[in-house]
Amino acid sequence: MEYRELGQTGIRVSRLCFGVLTVGPLQAGLTVDSGAEVIRYALEQGVSFLDTAQYYRTYPYIKKAVRGYHGEVVLASKSYAYTRKMMQEAVEEARKETGRDMIDIFLLHEQESALTIRGHWEAYEYLLECKQKGIIRAAGISTHTVAGVKAACQVPEIDVIHPLYNYRGVGITDGDASAMGQAIKEAVAAGKGIYSMKPLGGGNLLADSREAFDFVLRKRGLHSIAVGMKTTAEVDMNILIFSGGEVPDSVRDKVNAVPRRIHIESWCTGCGKCASRCTAGAIRIENGRAVADHARCRICGYCGPVCEEFCIKII
Ligand code: SF4
Ligand code: SF4
Repeated sequence: MEYRELGQTGIRVSRLCFGVLTVGPLQAGLTVDSGAEVIRYALEQGVSFLDTAQYYRTYPYIKKAVRGYHGEVVLASKSYAYTRKMMQEAVEEARKETGRDMIDIFLLHEQESALTIRGHWEAYEYLLECKQKGIIRAAGISTHTVAGVKAACQVPEIDVIHPLYNYRGVGITDGDASAMGQAIKEAVAAGKGIYSMKPLGGGNLLADSREAFDFVLRKRGLHSIAVGMKTTAEVDMNILIFSGGEVPDSVRDKVNAVPRRIHIESWCTGCGKCASRCTAGAIRIENGRAVADHARCRICGYCGPVCEEFCIKII
């Protein structure tokens, strides 16, 4: 496993970051025991960097995974908090529920632009206080927008940016992969620590996964790349990919043996674009929301890129 310095934070992270959202109740819904087992397995294989969020409700998984583990663990979390009090509660919740005194990295969740960063500044100032007190080591933002990355470049107090980035630009709400790549380059030049998310576009690029991974792995400015994983076989496969190795058929077969399904997020607006795109007739709009027919769905991922709200994931 390759390890990199996360910008100028002084934090060393594994290039493969475990995106913990996938095991939790919002996605695969593994039990705490099963999810913790997968995370612990990844830690033991050298994946030292875990990414989660207050919203994901996965702190119990992390607490269980790291119990009695003496290796290196770097934990990042994030919150939608926009006041000092809300952020104080978010940081305390993370510390209490993960059982860790220090949360290495804490981010403002999903910042779209300079305006949203300004609107959350009171909460961010609390993170800066936490940094001074040693409760966190670095602060920053996560973002799905090019404008978010560009805005963060202009803020010296932002140490870390967690942008959405994949070769098709799936989920980038204000531009394409090329614009995001340019913004990330600027952020690296500004000394920011960068760990990207969604290299597989929320599962929508699974059919081209090798190309999708090669794309992000070639970008030397990405200090780490968060990937959601829900089985130990996926951990094995991703470690091999990140190490530049070939994935044997035996590992790939194990990964493929675990059924996948389409997942539609709660913030779906019911616009119907996905239903029009799906030639299998596997999506209908019901009560103002898209509903998947799992029996008809071929897990092709063609509907994901048409959703402007980035609601559709293959998990
Ligand atoms: S395209 Fe997205 S927002 Fe529109 S109905 Fe489908 S899932 Fe919902
Ligand atoms: S993944 Fe493919 S088959 Fe399934 S709903 Fe989307 S477009 Fe239809």
